[in-house]
Amino acid sequence: MRLSRYFLPVLKEVPAEAEIVSHQLMLRAGMIQQLQAGIYNWLPLGWNVLQKVEQIVREEQNRAGAIEILMPTIQPASLWRESGRYDAYGKEMLRIKDRGEREMLFGPTNEENVTDIFRKHVRSYRQLPLNLYHIQWKFRDEVRPRFGVMRGREFLMKDAYSFDLDIEAGAAAFDRMFVAYLKTFKRMGLTAIPMRAESGPIGGNMSYEFQILAQTGESAVYFDQAFEEIDFSADDLDVAHLKQLYAAADELHDPANCPVPPERLRSGRGIEVGHIFFFGTKYSAPMGATVLGPDGKEVPVEMGSYGIGVSRLVGALIEANHDEKGIVWPESVAPFRVGLINLRADDELCRGVADDLYAKLEAAKVEVLYDDREERAGAKFATMDLIGLPWQVTVGPRGAKAGTVELKSRRTGAVEELSVDALLARFAA
Ligand code: ATP
Ligand code: MG
Repeated sequence: MRLSRYFLPVLKEVPAEAEIVSHQLMLRAGMIQQLQAGIYNWLPLGWNVLQKVEQIVREEQNRAGAIEILMPTIQPASLWRESGRYDAYGKEMLRIKDRGEREMLFGPTNEENVTDIFRKHVRSYRQLPLNLYHIQWKFRDEVRPRFGVMRGREFLMKDAYSFDLDIEAGAAAFDRMFVAYLKTFKRMGLTAIPMRAESGPIGGNMSYEFQILAQTGESAVYFDQAFEEIDFSADDLDVAHLKQLYAAADELHDPANCPVPPERLRSGRGIEVGHIFFFGTKYSAPMGATVLGPDGKEVPVEMGSYGIGVSRLVGALIEANHDEKGIVWPESVAPFRVGLINLRADDELCRGVADDLYAKLEAAKVEVLYDDREERAGAKFATMDLIGLPWQVTVGPRGAKAGTVELKSRRTGAVEELSVDALLARFAA
């Protein structure tokens, strides 16, 4: 992508309304723009990252055996009356009417909707286990939308729903998601700590929140140092072991009864990026989602639900990856892998070298943002540092003559000079 043709409305000033660094940087880097409180336009750079995050979530859900569907944003109130949640949900639910005065709502979550799909199509235990998920916008009229996309009113969530014949199978489905979550966050370069949680308005009896650490996290968290030592990308993660390791948010942490010795107890502030529940027959029983078991008896299915805050993750990733100059994207979610800077857009030789390099990188399917504008060098570097692409490649007059370019790692700041061919070999391999 040529920056001269892109839409990257960066801001020079730190916007006054943004309290936390990720919100400030998302606005400054032209990733998002507020339309109303807690409701954002996703501009090209932000939308690009959101899709990268979404794709990692999708791949790990698929790998864990979940199957993707898409449920609508608008749901009929009648379904929520069946589960008893229509009145219970309160003011967080956006309630609307169509022209026929039919009551509808903008979905804050989809348990009822997915249970309705299930009951209309699944009859036998032979069709189980089943896990259906979607990645869809939700609306919750939060009392205090804040911190940009971290606590929005309209936000993108991945929500998966498991259906099983009995509690043992349901618990196994829960454990598969537990592992999938650790791997998902790990692929984004994040260490997420699973914490036993109160189950909240969705109810149930088995629930974990996944918290990543950042100074601006909403809750204090305490955990066993072991979480920092485990390789979450390993193929043989021991779920039972992980579940019994100590981790607690402040309301559940009791220093007097904490089983972890002080020298192994870590603390920090956490951002909740995922939440998984096993809630048994809470929806299947009232909504009549039953299957015939092997003994021919009809039983309500055992269910769980598994959420990931996809749009919140974009903010959380920045909280965990930035410095005083701007964002520092992990490679797996970076909007472009390489930022190519032509220092002298008015110089024919520089332009020739930079244009050629850009064409070759594009041909090799390397995602590259090419700053081909006639701008001061300082402004170009500042923009590249702000938007945080992992690699910056600079073409200048001296190097252009010698056939070399400068390569800088955004994360470490390390700079090396190398030939155009060596650069291509590094990135286009
Ligand atoms: P919270 O305690 O932060 O309000 P929740 O318990 O209401 O979260 P869930 O219903 O479990 O959240 O939703 C699943 C995930 O969706 C959460 O773990 C979080 O990452 C994300 N999420 C929830 N509410 C919001 C919001 N208002 N804005 C952005 N993401 C959200
Ligand atoms: Mg909430």
